[in-house]
Amino acid sequence: MAGTVLDGKAIASQIEIELAEEVADFIQNNGDGPTLAAVLVGDDPASAVYVRNKRLACDRVGIESKMHRLPAETGEEELLELIAKLNADEDINGILVQLPLPPQIRSAKILDAVHPLKDVDCFHPENVGLLVQGRPRFLPCTPHGVLQILDRSGISVAGKQCVVVGRSDIVGKPVATLLAAKDSPVGPNCCNGTVTVCHSRTSDLAAITRTADVLVAAIGIPKFIKADMVKPGAVVIDVGINRTETGLCGDVDYEAVREIASAITPVPRGVGPLTVVMLMLNTLTAARLQLT
Ligand code: NDP
Repeated sequence: MAGTVLDGKAIASQIEIELAEEVADFIQNNGDGPTLAAVLVGDDPASAVYVRNKRLACDRVGIESKMHRLPAETGEEELLELIAKLNADEDINGILVQLPLPPQIRSAKILDAVHPLKDVDCFHPENVGLLVQGRPRFLPCTPHGVLQILDRSGISVAGKQCVVVGRSDIVGKPVATLLAAKDSPVGPNCCNGTVTVCHSRTSDLAAITRTADVLVAAIGIPKFIKADMVKPGAVVIDVGINRTETGLCGDVDYEAVREIASAITPVPRGVGPLTVVMLMLNTLTAARLQLT
């Protein structure tokens, strides 16, 4: 029997409803609502779509969004000046710098410049440090989305073999950190996994992925995880978003893997919608933190 489809879109919509109520309460108690500044440099079409989706989500939950669109030839200094301005602006609670940035700008330099209390993507070293130490200020959006899908689908990772394919700072590393953590702000079933992290230098990857009760794919290669790399009955979370000639697809060979998995996220309508709503949640968290 084919595995259950974990409908990320439906889960994200439910969280949005809950969040909209919290935002409304915040506005009632504090006058001003949470505000997100979105910074988009250049004209990468995929980045423009991501920023648009984030702004639409802001509208849906009652968060104000302010757009800063800069030309592709923007220099590092100019972008740093904008970040400094947004850091100092009391009306801005969260700052989102859409990646990737053009090659003349060093991403780390920019992300390090975002005020840690406004760092709603959780990319700042201070926030990454707090996360690794098990006392997170913000949870990074995509990894948090993965946890929410698992938790709200009643899937426990505690004591399970979890394999994460990918070790990026944005997805692989923080997902592995959260799954292996002793506690989780999301719920007691979303932590205490036994986690293996794989990457492009891993030997005999398939032998490792076949040990996974919970397999997270964050690779960036279309349909890379084949059915023979997956243990029957595994839960498969596909973080990948790849644009191909035939449309969007994930890092997992969905149709074939679904036949043997017990549950699987689709692409689209899987992890992607959660990433957006977790950014909204972090913007509300940032606004709350800035009150104190
Ligand atoms: P990166 O390119 O930063 O990282 C990819 C990782 O995959 C690296 O650690 C790399 O290993 C590893 N990898 C590459 N090739 C192989 C291979 N042949 N075997 C094993 N491991 C391999 O990508 P991201 O983490 O930023 O993104 C991953 C995917 O997730 C992309 O498709 C991206 O579009 C998507 N994404 C989706 C989001 C969402 O909201 N759903 C949000 C963010 C990303 P090494 O370190 O050795 O190079």
